[in-house]
Amino acid sequence: MSKRHYIIPVFVSHRGCPHDCIFCNQKKITGSGGDVSGIEVKEKIEEYLKTMPLENSHIELAFFGGSFTAIPIEQQKELLEAAQPYLKQGFIKNIRVSTRPDCIDEEVISILKLYGVQIVELGVQSLDEEVLRISNRGHSVQSVIDSVNLLKEHGFTVGVQVMVGLPGDNEEKSIATVKRLVGLKPHIARIYPALVIRNTYMEKMYERGLYKPLSLESAVEICKKLLIIFEQNNIEVIRIGLQPTEEIGEGKEVAAGPFHPSMRQLVVSSIYRDMLENIINDMKPVESIEIEVNSKEISDIIGQKRTNIDFLSKKYKLKKIAVIQSPDIEKQSITVKSGEIERNLSVKDFYKLPVK
Ligand code: SF4
Repeated sequence: MSKRHYIIPVFVSHRGCPHDCIFCNQKKITGSGGDVSGIEVKEKIEEYLKTMPLENSHIELAFFGGSFTAIPIEQQKELLEAAQPYLKQGFIKNIRVSTRPDCIDEEVISILKLYGVQIVELGVQSLDEEVLRISNRGHSVQSVIDSVNLLKEHGFTVGVQVMVGLPGDNEEKSIATVKRLVGLKPHIARIYPALVIRNTYMEKMYERGLYKPLSLESAVEICKKLLIIFEQNNIEVIRIGLQPTEEIGEGKEVAAGPFHPSMRQLVVSSIYRDMLENIINDMKPVESIEIEVNSKEISDIIGQKRTNIDFLSKKYKLKKIAVIQSPDIEKQSITVKSGEIERNLSVKDFYKLPVK
């Protein structure tokens, strides 16, 4: 039986970050305005451990938000020290931190290693110098390359976070960023469509008409292309889009931009729509089709609010589309039948993904 993965999240807020990226208001994003102490880390661990089954679980402590390794060293040590008893007793299996690419050096690495940090996620956002400059990131493309290489040399699991739709960015630049990133061979990735968060410089740009966020439709299309490139290169994308929280959501701290609480599902549905179009084009002419899918993926195939079904019915003038759950169909694969004709296609074959 595979182990269940649990995360104890600790939000480090804006603490320690030497910059003010135009899209960031970490205090709003994390929902925590203040600094976290070692005692609070312990309390958080205790609180979460009470709710998690310790048998057959992989429990991870994750310091999200802010720039962990930009915090004064003594404070980094205080937060990491708080986790040590739980790590040593095996309640927590590993520690993850997220930080800026220019806040990684040999000294930082030796501390992370000493305290058992295994995963480091870097806020890369873009590998286009102009996008980095306009976003006021304050680091170069080279610092991303250097930090990924250094972390990998020291055996860390390296995550990269990419943002699409920033000022000065476009689809071509986002694709070029991801293609260059896969050359660095990180282990995991996150993709975030840029959102206009209240009380940020980007909100001012948006209000003055100097910045236009991506539409939800364009964000889904670009995220889909990036997801496929990462997956074709065996890099797992662990998240697409910001997680909805009390603060993050339309009408809350998000002033504008392609926010959706289920961004990944929109992207996956779009992938299935492409696959269905490919099959229907191959079968044409057809009047009605029957789609067999794994029962766990039925809502991805149909699409939110039946968007895929409505789109296909209209575009191909189909009189009937029946979606049938079948236990025999493997996940991430579909079978389409029309009369005597039958076609099967998997996401792996469609995008020529590597066999794991
Ligand atoms: S480096 Fe990270 S925490 Fe600092 S301002 Fe930029 S996005 Fe926010």
